[in-house]
Amino acid sequence: MNAKFGGQMINKEDLRKKFSKDYKKYYSVELFKEKGFERKQCKICKKYFWTSNPDRESCGDSSHEPYSFIKNKSINIEYEEFWNIFSNFFKENNHSIIDKYPVVSRWRNDLYYTIASIQDFQRIENNKMSFEYPANPLIVPQICLRFNDISNVGISGRHLTSFMMAGQHAFNYPNQGYWKDKTIQLNYDFLINKLKVNKNDLTYIEDVWAMGDFSEFGPCLESFSNGLELVNSVFTEFEYTNQIKELNSKVVDVGWGFERLIWFHSGSQTIYDTIFKKQLNYIYKQTGIKPDYEKYSKIAALSSNIDLTENNSKQLDIIMNLIDKKDYNEVIKPMQASYIITDHLRTLLFAISDGALPSNIGGGYNLRIILRRIFDLMEINNIDIDLIKIIELYSKDLKNLFKGLNQNIDEISKIFDIEKIRYNNTKKSALKIINTIIDKKQKLSPLKLKTLYESNGITPKFINSVAKQKNIEIDIDESYLELLKNDFIKKTKHKIQININVSDIQKTEKLYYLFKTEAEAKILKKDKNIIILDKSVFYPEGGGQESDLGTIDGIKLKNVQIINNVIVHELDQEVDFKINQKVKCIVNKERRLRLMAHHTATHLISNACRQVLGKHAWQEGSVKTYSKAHIDISHYKKLTEEQVKEIEQTVNNHIINGIKVSMEELERKDAEARFGFTIYQGHGVPAKKLRIIEIKDLNNNIIDAEACGGLHLINSESSIGLVKIIKTMRIHDGINRIEFVAGLAALDYFNELQNNIKNMSEAINADFDKVMQKVIQQFNEFQEYRKNYEIISKDLIKYISLDILNKNKQLHQNYIIEKLNYNRKLLRNIVLNITENNKGVLIVLYNDDFDVVCGSSSDQSAINFVKLDLLKIIKNSVFNGGGSEKICEGKLIFNNKL
Ligand SMILES: [Zn+2]
Ligand SMILES: [Zn+2]
Repeated sequence: MNAKFGGQMINKEDLRKKFSKDYKKYYSVELFKEKGFERKQCKICKKYFWTSNPDRESCGDSSHEPYSFIKNKSINIEYEEFWNIFSNFFKENNHSIIDKYPVVSRWRNDLYYTIASIQDFQRIENNKMSFEYPANPLIVPQICLRFNDISNVGISGRHLTSFMMAGQHAFNYPNQGYWKDKTIQLNYDFLINKLKVNKNDLTYIEDVWAMGDFSEFGPCLESFSNGLELVNSVFTEFEYTNQIKELNSKVVDVGWGFERLIWFHSGSQTIYDTIFKKQLNYIYKQTGIKPDYEKYSKIAALSSNIDLTENNSKQLDIIMNLIDKKDYNEVIKPMQASYIITDHLRTLLFAISDGALPSNIGGGYNLRIILRRIFDLMEINNIDIDLIKIIELYSKDLKNLFKGLNQNIDEISKIFDIEKIRYNNTKKSALKIINTIIDKKQKLSPLKLKTLYESNGITPKFINSVAKQKNIEIDIDESYLELLKNDFIKKTKHKIQININVSDIQKTEKLYYLFKTEAEAKILKKDKNIIILDKSVFYPEGGGQESDLGTIDGIKLKNVQIINNVIVHELDQEVDFKINQKVKCIVNKERRLRLMAHHTATHLISNACRQVLGKHAWQEGSVKTYSKAHIDISHYKKLTEEQVKEIEQTVNNHIINGIKVSMEELERKDAEARFGFTIYQGHGVPAKKLRIIEIKDLNNNIIDAEACGGLHLINSESSIGLVKIIKTMRIHDGINRIEFVAGLAALDYFNELQNNIKNMSEAINADFDKVMQKVIQQFNEFQEYRKNYEIISKDLIKYISLDILNKNKQLHQNYIIEKLNYNRKLLRNIVLNITENNKGVLIVLYNDDFDVVCGSSSDQSAINFVKLDLLKIIKNSVFNGGGSEKICEGKLIFNNKL
């Protein structure tokens, strides 16, 4: 990976060389000297590493040597039991143990899921990263989700889609925290004394760690033993914007692969056999799959070499060839399927518990893929199990370490049921598509697979199974990788951008947060109709709330935006304001009030959705305008009428009983501690300080609290008025949109409804309050007419048909052309009646509008007749229409009209 800044290139390879050249400074620590670790260069990969074993020639990377910690009889240990050993070690060494953050990374705009423990403490403001931490140093049992290794899961023995990165973090060195010597000292002590790693088997490999954009980076030491990477110790000591700079506040970022530690300790054949033991036993017991550890042992140790994401699937073939094909299919494959199912279920438990849902968009897409992969595997391997039983086993195992994990089982069960129905429906319609692909021998490129999944929900495994039924071999298992979404999100904003350079302008004083609606301000910059002021009363578009409008020195405003903390005003017309001139700014108060009513109501609806639908109902987006607003809520099904009523009722009850809205600026960590992660609705807020909008009832009980930069009805709560939901719809799989009106906009809405009814009552000549009665009455009459019409028109068609045939009996032409003044539908019915009941006829009917219908029961083609012969008969015309040999229709257009 490269990054380019100001013409200067920076890449990992160069950094590796730079650190390596000065290894004493970057990698050497006291412990190495003290314990006799020497620096060597790996004979295989040429990386530098540290070892106390004079005979060792390779660095110890997994690809160089088999797992050699696997025991004949593995040690039984519970996940939480081993966590206590781990966390106690660090507690004794003065670390605070804190709770994990959610796996759904709501506080970040650029990531769906938490992928590393350090993410919990990173804050980004004005494109600059800083750290905020509840304790220093600390340990966090952070569950991370990573989908890029999915093809290795269940196969390599060590890969997982969710894992605990036990984060060991020390911040702000040298003012606080600690640095390399102490980090490696702790590392060594834990590995040697607690994990019982043999000193001679322990290696530290030198490497470089960097953020994707190289904004921060530093050297790192990876600890390996017996073919397994156990922990990576990163020393973040540099930043890079235009040039490399040493950080004043350095960070120790150690990621312990907790599942790998416990696996190493237990010595079972795969990581799954240690951490999913109970869950696997449940599958084996229910299905009769008999795990054969002796047969598996032929590949267990050598699996260290497997890494399918690195494109070395040949390695897999070599290893699988060590087992005879029958054993591979009958023993190993069902075991691997069980490993994958247990892994994926644990990931779904973590993700859904933290509010993610399987869907076709964003991070939910990855969850649907892994759930469908579970369904596929169950089907192919005849695994008939209750998935919720496994979920229950996990939440029981982990309930002390991850509080609340056992509170979502009902919801997960509902979600799985619905997903299963969708999966089955998809499969039915998919069969057809796949059969065509297979029959036509179309090539299945990753792109094609992606389209098949995205538009038809067809997974690669499913294609495989259909192919197998037809005895066709296509192996596309690995392609799951291609289907998954990248961890990083590129959010696109749909703001109407105003083009002006603001880099030379101080940030604008925000008077709208003081709820001012009038002020005098000074012009700082002007470009045609765009002006920048020293302070502004106008709220710029943001957080889904439209901007304030109003006037500046009497000239109307069109649009207000914020660019890097500078507020930019676009006026209706060009102005001749001078720099430093004072201008009078006046906000349109009614508009402001309407926007605020919609925004405060949005928070109430968002909260009511979580009450009515469940904890998974997160706000995914919202828009608040003058006349209406909408909020997008994640939910796995279409909202029912009852749910909508209940949401509406909940919100209005709060308003009728009285609410108080207040705003408080809080440190992010304090806000999270007080209100939880539900403060992040709709969008991430990476800043350190948060503006928390609290809605309380009159007894000061909190109804809702959200981090929000919008304007709210603080101290004027009564203006929210009635909230009326006017429409709901499923805009995506997993996302429901609720459209609503509040306050004056609600009044507008009802006035419009009333007007419509009034107009209708006049149109049908009924009293206003009897409109419904009259409509029903007239509709019933209409139905009666229609029934009669259909009976009569059938007779009429027969009669006209006979008449036409009789009239044309004497003619010696091989076609009939008649003009009849009926609409095209009736013409078509007559033509069909004639051609279906009489052989050897070609008939053309047309009307005054030159609608043409032609039918044929002779050997003449209808479409050819119209296109060739008819146009000779009716001159100067062109046929605009189409059809077949038997029937065609369209319109004649005359040349003079062309
Ligand atoms: Zn090596
Ligand atoms: Zn808000």
